Parts: sequence; C-alpha cells; structure tokens
Amino acid sequence: MKIAVVGTGYVGLVTGTCLADSGSDVTCLDIDEKKISSLKDGNIPIYEPGLEELVERNARVGRLRFTTDTNEAVAAAEIVFLAVGTPPTTSGAADLTALWSVVSSIAPYLAEDVIVVTKSTVPVGTAAKIENKLSEATGRVCHVASNPEFLKEGAAIEDFQRPDRVVVGVRTPEVAEKLRRLYSPFLRTERPFLVMSPESAEMTKYVANSLLATKISFINEVANLCERMEANVDDVRRGIGHDSRIGFSFLFPGVGYGGSCFPKDVQALTAMASERSSELTILQAVHGANLTQKQVLGNKITDYFEGNLEGRRIALWGLAFKPRTDDIRDAPSLELLDVLLAARAKVRVFDPEAMQNVQDIYGSAVEYASSPLDAVTNADALAIVTEWGDFRRPDFKALKAAMASHVIFDGRNLFDSAEMHSNGFLYHSIGRSVVDGRPKEGGSG
Ligand code: NAD
Repeated sequence: MKIAVVGTGYVGLVTGTCLADSGSDVTCLDIDEKKISSLKDGNIPIYEPGLEELVERNARVGRLRFTTDTNEAVAAAEIVFLAVGTPPTTSGAADLTALWSVVSSIAPYLAEDVIVVTKSTVPVGTAAKIENKLSEATGRVCHVASNPEFLKEGAAIEDFQRPDRVVVGVRTPEVAEKLRRLYSPFLRTERPFLVMSPESAEMTKYVANSLLATKISFINEVANLCERMEANVDDVRRGIGHDSRIGFSFLFPGVGYGGSCFPKDVQALTAMASERSSELTILQAVHGANLTQKQVLGNKITDYFEGNLEGRRIALWGLAFKPRTDDIRDAPSLELLDVLLAARAKVRVFDPEAMQNVQDIYGSAVEYASSPLDAVTNADALAIVTEWGDFRRPDFKALKAAMASHVIFDGRNLFDSAEMHSNGFLYHSIGRSVVDGRPKEGGSG
C-alpha cells in the first residue's frame, strides 16, 4: 500500500518506519527542511531505541522516503496519516493550527478515494470537521478516519509493532477493512482491532491518557500523605496492587508526569468538557496535583538548605521526562532546574540522551557532566529526576568519595531506604520517611 505520513516527529517517524518495515511504500512529509535533509542523510533527529536501524534498513531498500514536497508525498497515496503536533493553547485546548494548515495544503493533491487518517491526538469532532473541509476543497466526499496512537516514547517501536490494541474510528466498513489490512502484520498474535465511530476513537485516546494521569496524581498525593503519617508508600502500593481490581501499573510515586502527551491531553479533555458545560472536576484536580508534585523535589531541597541555595552545588541525574527518550517537553527536570537556578545554586546535570535538548534551552547556565559520577563531583546534594537504568545501581562508595556532602533527593524512589542508611547517606525520597545514615557529629561511625 502507498502511504503518506504528514509530520515526521516522534509519532510520524515511528508510524512511517514501522509501516514501511511491514511492506508498505511510505513517504514521510515535514515542513522542517533541516529535519528532512538530516533524515535523507541517514541521521535520526530523535532518540528512540531501535528506530535508527529500522529507518536505515527501510530507506536503503527504497520503501521509506522523506520529503518536504506535498505533491510528491501525497498524490499517489492511498492512505494519508496526519501526525503533526497538537500542543496546548493558553486555555488548555488543543492548538490545531498545524493540522488545519496540513489539511489545506494536502487537499489539492489528494487522490479520489484516498483515506485521510488522524494519528495526531485531536479533539472529539475533528475528523468530522476535516471531512467537511476536504469536501469543500475537493468538491467530493472524502473518507476521514481516526486512528489514535498509543505508543510510549522509549518503547515506541515495540508498541507500534505489538500494540495492545488498534483503534480505528470510521464511517464505512470499507475504510475499516482497508485499515485492518494495513495493520494486519501487527495483529497476528490476536491483537484486537477495534472499530468504532471517529468521535469514539478520538475520545478513547483522551480518556486513556487521562486515566493514566489520574493514577499517577492519585498515588503522588497518597505518597505525600504517607510522609506525614509515617506510612511507607512502597508498602501501601504492594498492599493494594495484589487486588486484581487495582493492579500495580502506573502507581509509582514520583515527581509528577511530564512529556508531550499527559499534561496536554488532560487539559484538552478538561477544556472540551468545559466548552460543553460538563465539568471534569476529577481531571482538574489531577492537573492541579501534578503541578504541585512537580515542585516537591525543589521544595525538599530548598527546605533542607533552609531557603539558601546560593552557591550550593547540586547534581541532577535525569533530564528526559522519562527513561529511554531524549524528549524534555514538560519534563519535571525543567521545573527543578528553574527553581535551583533562580535560587543561584550551581547545577551540574547528567542524562544519557537529553543533554543537548537541555543545552539548547539553558546554555551555559548549567554545567553538563560526562557521566553520573562526573555530575556529583563536589556536590552538596544529588537530585534524581528520571529513572534511567544507568542510575539504578551506582557504586555508592565512589559516589560518597566524589560528593562533598552525602545527601540524596530521589524523586523516583530508586533505592531501598535501609540500604541507603547502611551506605551512609541522608536519603530523601517520595512517600517514605527520610533516612539518615550519615555518621553523627562527634560519633565514631
Ligand atoms: P512532534 O512535535 O515530535 O512532531 C510533529 C511534526 O510535525 C514536526 O516534525 C513538525 O515539523 C511537523 N509539522 C508541523 N507542521 C507541519 C506541516 N504543516 N506540514 C508538515 N509537517 C508539519 O510531535 P509528536 O510527539 O510526534 O506528536 C504528534 C501527535 O501525536 C500529537 O497530536 C501527539 O499528541 C500525538 N501523540 C504523541 C505521542 C508521543 O509519545 N509523542 C504518543 C501518542 C500520540
């Protein structure tokens, strides 16, 4: 099948590459000339495990091409995926500027029975609006389907190739059948292919992300309460998770959710509800709790240094909003960096993949380390923000030797509190009591 993917970001590039890898003939289109020219040269603009090899293989055999020319991408396509960004506006509603610009620009080139598919996360009713706009522009009925994407950055290839489910919102069985054929290589192991209306498919995406965000905000608030009640959130989590109605996933306390999806999708669904005079009060609270949670680590550090961070050397491990990606959109690390820099702390950061993206924003305001250990050299404290595997098993002896003061603020609960006590650290984490394993002043050990 001949496919065009418009918007070659995290979702578009993964979609185009995986479809090419399953035998489709794919052209990826973007307005970012630098991005397209670097992709043509074989350079992948984002970090996503496994993506580079897959792009290279499919580009080499000619099944995956990159262009900035709309005609070249779209004219021969049987299916056109729209995968441009839909960031939040100041009101929280989704900004569809890029999407409408694409709809106008592709309209003159579309083949007669093409199917236009939204992969971007868009407000309920957008497929219907695209149908109208395309019909006006082309003078004929246009098939528009919704096919929300559920991939997770850091595991995007695996998620696309082995999806939990594929959801398509369509108006006709023929469109559903064509999409089923396109996805059939990924459905072999009895993965569900769920057909519904475009409106229900659009809603499904927002509800999925909002529910996941709700779980995170809920356990974060529980964790904060545990700290005040001498309970241990790890134990509470174990205590509830074995209940099969509850389970364990997405109930890890931390420093709040970030990334390009949860914050914006929670706000967009809330805005959609408000526009229809139907308040989603739970989601409003989820968003508010997340904004508060993003300040938790900064508050703990500020309290520890009694409000005076000037000149303090703080090491920061983890900048990406989650492990296995270089994406820093809405990352909790940025919030912490702002607090520390405003208080005139000296911050030295390390992240396995996201350093360049942070450097593009913060430049020389921050020091960039070459390794986790390099980051903590002479540090008065270490803050951990992202749970990269690289940080999970540090050499605590080397860490102690490198740090000026043995204080850790762990926003991801990577370590066991008792172990940190015996390792001799003052260890702050989320939802657990503080342990102080440092030798007492004047004591022997
Ligand atoms: P992104 O910002 O990484 O990529 C968007 C791309 O669209 C950019 O390369 C940009 O240059 C391009 N673009 C913008 N205007 C264009 C135009 N007029 N013509 C052609 N290209 C244009 O965004 P993303 O993270 O890939 O997200 C895309 C959509 O998918 C969003 O709606 C997002 O909510 C949704 N989504 C994202 C994820 C994720 O994990 N990133 C997961 C599921 C769904």
